[in-house]
Amino acid sequence: MVVSREYNAIRNHLYTRENKDQINKRKRERYQRDREHILKQHKRYREANKLKRIAQRYALQHKFIDDKCAMCKATDRLNFHHIDYVDYKNPDCGITLCVDCHKKDHRTVIISNVN
Ligand SMILES: [Zn+2]
Ligand SMILES: [Zn+2]
Repeated sequence: MVVSREYNAIRNHLYTRENKDQINKRKRERYQRDREHILKQHKRYREANKLKRIAQRYALQHKFIDDKCAMCKATDRLNFHHIDYVDYKNPDCGITLCVDCHKKDHRTVIISNVN
């Protein structure tokens, strides 16, 4: 069993390596075909990020941050993590996380950039 699983993993790896050009070509073709759609998605992503920054600044200014991390109970390097950015003025729409837990949560730390 173990041998065949390893064999499959190696085969997948080889497939990806041997077909890299084809995979990249397909990606390029998709980009050309859906260019407008993809650009629109990027724009939406940027706008969502903008809202994220506004939300973080608001949380800082209005002291939404608790005295400890909701996950690991750490008391230093705390961030306010918004669960819902649209309703960012509502302190119930987020939780306090330390930097480490925040990174784990979505791998971006906004508050440390705001400071
Ligand atoms: Zn934590
Ligand atoms: Zn967050």
